[in-house]
Amino acid sequence: MSYLRNKFKVIIVTGVPGVGKTTVLSLLQEKAKKLNLKIKVVNFGTFMLETAIKEKLVNNRDEMRHLSLRKQLELQQLAAKRIIEESLKELNEEEFLLIDTHAIVKTSSGYLPGLPKHVLDELKPDMIAVIEADANEIYNRQTKDTSRNRSDFGTVRDIEKLMEYARSASFASAVHYASTVSIVVNKENKADEAAEQLIQYLQKL
Ligand code: ATP
Ligand code: AMP
Ligand code: MG
Repeated sequence: MSYLRNKFKVIIVTGVPGVGKTTVLSLLQEKAKKLNLKIKVVNFGTFMLETAIKEKLVNNRDEMRHLSLRKQLELQQLAAKRIIEESLKELNEEEFLLIDTHAIVKTSSGYLPGLPKHVLDELKPDMIAVIEADANEIYNRQTKDTSRNRSDFGTVRDIEKLMEYARSASFASAVHYASTVSIVVNKENKADEAAEQLIQYLQKL
């Protein structure tokens, strides 16, 4: 099985920018603590950002999707390797690694898969969760959250289209390592319910 799975269980959490991945995962961390479940949550973009800042390429995480595609690929590959290296030191069998990331990245020169084969060869996911919500609600979440620059995601219709691509990309990525795909709805002001749903899926892996 080692060619198909890492020793710990891997859950990749995807969804369009502003849908609430990071929020849901932070609630999930609290729930896991109460249930005595050992989990590690990492943000894929943060691993990429560390290198991008060291190399003085960007000032913040929202600038990375506008770097050259070759550079994004390099950052992506290194992030996947470092996440697994770090997790191997910390997690045992029956423990969980949750990765906050994207199945599709809207770059300046097209849609880049966030989970292409070279990334999956490292992560070997048991499950790919797709966090979804109403496109109007996502648009409002993006607009209200002034800590980030998500102005390049356009109108409600553009977000709807991106959600379609993101769902398709998640299913395409799932094929390589026989990962399950789970859709989790993050309803307005109900992020706690989404975290609960995700933790229930995770306990069945
Ligand atoms: P990105 O991919 O850009 O990192 P994200 O999916 O991680 O985005 P968050 O940063 O978690 O999104 O959430 C975006 C904004 O939406 C935040 O201001 C957050 O507080 C808000 N938010 C998240 N979930 C909900 C919800 N269920 N109802 C209302 N607001 C929410
Ligand atoms: P986030 O905070 O999740 O929005 O991530 C910040 C940025 O990291 C994203 O806008 C992308 O530029 C980059 N990123 C995150 N995950 C991936 C991935 N799997 N592949 C390529 N780029 C990614
Ligand atoms: Mg986030």
